[in-house]
Amino acid sequence: MRFEIGSDHRGYELKSRIISWLAERGHAVNDRGCDGVESCDYPDFGFGVARAVAASPGTQGILICSNGIGMSMAANKVPGVRAALCLTPAMASQARRHNDANVLVLGADNVPYVESLAIVSAWLGAAFEGGRHERRVRKLVEGESARLADATTKGRRGDSGMNQDCIFCKIASGAIPAEKVFEDDDVLGFRDIHPAAPTHVLLIPKAHIPTLNDLAPEHDRLLGRLVRAAGEVAAREGLAAGYRLVGNCGRGAGQEVFHIHFHLLGGRPLDWPPG
Ligand code: 5GP
Ligand code: ZN
Repeated sequence: MRFEIGSDHRGYELKSRIISWLAERGHAVNDRGCDGVESCDYPDFGFGVARAVAASPGTQGILICSNGIGMSMAANKVPGVRAALCLTPAMASQARRHNDANVLVLGADNVPYVESLAIVSAWLGAAFEGGRHERRVRKLVEGESARLADATTKGRRGDSGMNQDCIFCKIASGAIPAEKVFEDDDVLGFRDIHPAAPTHVLLIPKAHIPTLNDLAPEHDRLLGRLVRAAGEVAAREGLAAGYRLVGNCGRGAGQEVFHIHFHLLGGRPLDWPPG
């Protein structure tokens, strides 16, 4: 399994031990700090881990502070994150099986080291059971979407999720039709309404990010996926001779829709330099 892990200074020691324990068992662990026992602020690391987990579905998070409360509060503010503060292995198992939790929060002062390993073990050994729990988790997700939509209406920008006024968000949600040629959990490809070449596909992240300048480190995997998706579409479209991937950033470069997109162009000779 792939883990993003973080702590504040009070959780640093337990974090280091859990990293070794996980690595010994073959798990990939990305340590997002803190880097020592010097006093620091838990939200800086809670948000870092939570955003990374939200940006790469399938990845799990572990957050540790003195009692786990501050880290839980920070992580659960990030859309897509369901963080669970667990004091026992049974809580960890239920958080995975019933709540589809994706971030485990531990309180270093509340749980002895050996017990914390039992909690991580229980977390690893459990998977979401779906069934009646599916309906309940869906309600959590719906509550989150309502909050995001509310925030956007009020003119604030969410870091991910949907922007109600954005045409590409509407295409991603199905509210506006488009000829889709590629789709996975994070990325959508659809034909441009005014094609500038025989193949002209737009590749977008489903989450609303206005421009390439709004990208943050936690989007690295998403952007990699976006570019690889372009290659997959090009192959399907038979663009063996080559294709061009264009990303316009800002009005000066001709960006008209402020939701990141790459134009995939092919099927005709492509001059260089472009206009
Ligand atoms: P930009 O100029 O922002 O780089 O590119 C935006 C692209 O989105 C343009 O090529 C435009 O034709 C395309 N586009 C704008 N509105 C729609 C739409 O509603 N549906 C589709 N399929 N493409 C659109
Ligand atoms: Zn959007």
